[in-house]
Amino acid sequence: RYKIYNEDAYKIIKKLKNENVNINHIITDPPYLISKDNNFYTMKNKRQGIDFGEWDKTFDLFSWIKPYSEILDKNGSMIIFCSYRYISYLINTLEANGLITKDILEWKKTNPMPRNTRRRYVQDTEFAIWAVKKGAKWIFNKPDDIPYLRSTFTTSTVLGKERTKHPTQKSLVLLKEIIKIHTNENDVILDPFMGSGTTGIAALELQRKFYGIEIEKDYYKIAEKRFQNV
Ligand code: SAM
Repeated sequence: RYKIYNEDAYKIIKKLKNENVNINHIITDPPYLISKDNNFYTMKNKRQGIDFGEWDKTFDLFSWIKPYSEILDKNGSMIIFCSYRYISYLINTLEANGLITKDILEWKKTNPMPRNTRRRYVQDTEFAIWAVKKGAKWIFNKPDDIPYLRSTFTTSTVLGKERTKHPTQKSLVLLKEIIKIHTNENDVILDPFMGSGTTGIAALELQRKFYGIEIEKDYYKIAEKRFQNV
């Protein structure tokens, strides 16, 4: 039902291609690159209080899209969580590789982290880009009993027993909601940057299949343990 690799997603893509692995959907949450300044913007004062680790500083956020889109099914969806800073850059990269952005999903957190509340808003939203290949007959499982689906998903951040040591673990409820809408049972979902494996756990709990990749051994082990309990 699932296969996970403790590898560099940039390296293992060659193996996945050689094995003709068929991926229906890519749902992923790559490093946000918000831990420090980088080429895309400059700020006088460094952001304070955010440092998830080295993996969030040197990551190439764009070059994986081309090789991974090549193993994505023609009717599949790609959903990429990202910092608002990179939304348009990622959309440009997707377009350059034959993918069209359909909508932006918004994750509204009911318990956002308050910082600098006298001078700043509490940033309570994160975003994900939903894209499909040109000409795709994409999946959109809108329940018949509601007139339309809104692009905002409201959940808490990870709390209690669900919480692992991964610093940017996503909410399982959120991933399950997204997977229900954008994929069907038995579909194969890939997360090349799986962290603690939330996308995969959500996929398995909803009778989907899963491929996951994580470069950091400690995070991989967290994921491995979570999978054993599904
Ligand atoms: N959604 C995940 C969760 O719920 O735990 C968190 C994902 S986190 C934002 C991104 C992950 O990508 C980190 O765990 C990081 O170690 C991993 N990563 C960074 N570069 C990678 C690479 N080249 N190949 C595979 N994983 C990588």
